[in-house]
Amino acid sequence: MIWRPRSLRSRLALWQAGILALTLVVLSALTLVLLKTVLSSRADEALYEYADKTARTIATTLYQSSIGGRTEPARFLDKDLQEWGRQIQVVDAHNGMVRDRSEGLASHRLPTDLDARVNGLKGLPTYQTRIDLGEHPVRIVTVPVQMGENVPYLVQTAASLEGIDDALRRTALILLVLTPSVFVLSLLAGHLLVGRSLQPVAAMTRSALAMEPGRLDHRIEATGTDDEIGGLASAFNEMIGRLDRSFRQIQQFSADASHELKTPLTSIRGEAEVAMMSDLTPEEHRKILNSIVIQTERMSAIVENLLLLARADSDQVNIKRVPVHLEEVAMQVFEQLERIALKKSIHLGIDQMDEAIVAGDALWIGQILTNLLGNAIKYTPENGEVIISVAMVEVSGSPSDAGIAPGRYGSFSVRDTGPGIPADHLAKIFDRFYRVDSGRSRDAGGVGLGLNIATWAANAHDGRITVSSEVGKGSVFTVLLPIYVASD
Ligand code: ADP
Repeated sequence: MIWRPRSLRSRLALWQAGILALTLVVLSALTLVLLKTVLSSRADEALYEYADKTARTIATTLYQSSIGGRTEPARFLDKDLQEWGRQIQVVDAHNGMVRDRSEGLASHRLPTDLDARVNGLKGLPTYQTRIDLGEHPVRIVTVPVQMGENVPYLVQTAASLEGIDDALRRTALILLVLTPSVFVLSLLAGHLLVGRSLQPVAAMTRSALAMEPGRLDHRIEATGTDDEIGGLASAFNEMIGRLDRSFRQIQQFSADASHELKTPLTSIRGEAEVAMMSDLTPEEHRKILNSIVIQTERMSAIVENLLLLARADSDQVNIKRVPVHLEEVAMQVFEQLERIALKKSIHLGIDQMDEAIVAGDALWIGQILTNLLGNAIKYTPENGEVIISVAMVEVSGSPSDAGIAPGRYGSFSVRDTGPGIPADHLAKIFDRFYRVDSGRSRDAGGVGLGLNIATWAANAHDGRITVSSEVGKGSVFTVLLPIYVASD
């Protein structure tokens, strides 16, 4: 099995080292090969130019001698022509005899092998490298002296390759020193950079380990960058934020629920103690028992609502999508609550009652309407007025309709002449256990869950509840539910 380091930092460093080493080796090799090619071709060019120029000069001299009827010159090479570092030699193309040579060659001669002569007679140059002529290899270029069709002589130029070898050796040495330094430096820089970039990851690990349900106030320090790690850190923080809010809501919910149940329990206990200790008349006993019954009814309502919300939260509620006549459900709820309204001398009326067939669950729709109409009757003072209406409406999808798909909806609205709801409370009345005036609401039998349940049910139907209210004048609650379409 291949060994793999556990830390990401080491793994990255290992990969970086491998890739860097490979790149540097390839780059160094390429540099040397390229340098050698460039220097060699440059040397060949220079040698060829020198030989060619000399061959042309000799050809001209020979031509002029032949025209003037003169004999061939004894020497072919002008000393001034001899360039430093390069040797030159003129040989007979037919027998290879040396006819002239530069001073630097002294008594030595440049080898003229058969290949060079054959090529020369064909008018072609020859390039050769000889390693047997001295300490360093020697490059020899042979060029023919062209006299029309004839090639009487060959000009050979030669230079030692010592300079090129030396340049390559020096470059190799520089690369040998530079490459490991670059390797070590970039490894160090990479290690530092990777370490810095991974710091938030370590912080995230620590935060995740320190996290407990009750202690979700930990946040990862912002990296100040919007790279992947920064994005991960802020996503992580947002997730903790959501968890934190959700845990707080649960805690708040449990505290509120206990508080709501504690109040009627305390009062039941107080009244029961009074009933036990004092000498009460049967009439007084009856009154106390009646009060206890009311309190237990209230507790049942709370527990029922809590169960409903618990089921809704855990997605256990199955909401049907069948055609429901909204106006029929509205009339049923109207009749059910008429008695209570009458008791408070509230005028309960109908403004509009159009046919509206919506897609949903009649039981849940009934629950929404009961909660809305129940609240209107509950909070409207005696001799007030509560008016309901059912109609079909068109939602266009403009910004004011945000949160609901454009289309046709069945609408049920309740208008009351109650106390109204102050603007700063309007958004909150849909929260669990939220009451604008808890004393008055509790007296009226309110728990603070009705609107939350109604909102949940409306949302589950892809509908929504809106409210508009004016303090001292009254409120209008409206629920919109999508109309039934046969293909649903
Ligand atoms: P509750 O059981 O207290 O009625 P809800 O969730 O139904 O709980 O309502 C939340 C709060 O909104 C109420 O306590 C009340 O203050 C306010 N509210 C609801 N409906 C009306 C209304 N029609 N008129 C005035 N206030 C209302």
